[in-house]
Amino acid sequence: MKIECIKTHHLRCHLEQPFGFSQWAYNQRNVLVIEVITDQGISGWGECYGPADVIQAAVEKFYAPRILSMNALSTDAIWHHMWRSSLDFARSGIMMSAMSGIDMALWDLKGKALNLSVSDLMGGKQREQVPCYATGMYFRDAPEEILLPELVAEAKGYAEEGYQAMKIKVGKNPDFDEKLIIAMREALPNTLLAADSNHAYDLSEATRIAKVLDENNYIWFEEPLSPEHPELFRQLQDKCTVAIATGECEQTRFGFKKLLDAGGVQLLQADLAYCGGPSEALKIRTLASAQGINMIPHVWGTQLNLAAATHFLATAYHEPGRAEPKELMLEYDRTENPLRDNLYKTIVSVNNGQASVPTGAGLGVEIDLDQLKEFDICATESK
Ligand code: MG
Repeated sequence: MKIECIKTHHLRCHLEQPFGFSQWAYNQRNVLVIEVITDQGISGWGECYGPADVIQAAVEKFYAPRILSMNALSTDAIWHHMWRSSLDFARSGIMMSAMSGIDMALWDLKGKALNLSVSDLMGGKQREQVPCYATGMYFRDAPEEILLPELVAEAKGYAEEGYQAMKIKVGKNPDFDEKLIIAMREALPNTLLAADSNHAYDLSEATRIAKVLDENNYIWFEEPLSPEHPELFRQLQDKCTVAIATGECEQTRFGFKKLLDAGGVQLLQADLAYCGGPSEALKIRTLASAQGINMIPHVWGTQLNLAAATHFLATAYHEPGRAEPKELMLEYDRTENPLRDNLYKTIVSVNNGQASVPTGAGLGVEIDLDQLKEFDICATESK
């Protein structure tokens, strides 16, 4: 079964209400989706995390010509062929994101070709349902005294929908962040809460916020510090109890090894649409497991990445093993995203805060090709 054609689609939608985090604000969503088609007519889909137009060029101009006619089922062989052909340029960044989307499409394709789900291909499901945590509480352009109660109300809404865990944004400024962390805990005394600064703090600010998270029983502190200074994570972790989580902007087993070797990180969050794809995510998970650390994917995008992460978590062995293990939760972004909610015929079903592992072949989600045309602003075809 040979790769005969690779198509890419840059999808875009505008948001009704812009939202922001510690670095900037979004008023539109963009994603690159990739379809890999074989000479037997079977195809698979994947998506990439990162700037869609730039990644599109990497797929069309660089990788597609190099993997056409290769055996489509040879996921690892194709990965290493791509890796070696771009080693000087793809050790991190956009090129690795392009490789990730291609790899995800090949896993979907292989599942369809063998009539197996991606979790079957990953070694088999250990659970039928994966608990979700709601990601939300992004900043909006409003005075802080109005914004804070709005964010608390949003979180209460997720609790009413059945979510037992959620993640807030921090990193606006430390005074506001402290008030928000405390207000959330007071409003939701029984909810698992995590906080994500998107690398907004220096060490002294992160230490101050970690203390407040400790006092309010938060379960993790995500990207407290710049990814450029992994040695600071160790210093921060030595000063607090809350688990330090990071990894959404890290890539490959080699990048994660350096992060793990620096110490201080207790939860890895590789993105399957960015870290090197499902193939590389499994290697990163094995590396983390050897150090007693769990990996829960970062998920930001459409149903393809959500499905990939759901299969990944369905097959996860929880470190440490025990009869009633700590739950590894699926990130379920609740912000406005028509590319997640209006593009697919078959989706990852989430009810009462629990995602059902898709049972169809491959990733088990299906794009509506008519809807695809509505969002498609630039398509390419390589054959
Ligand atoms: Mg994050």
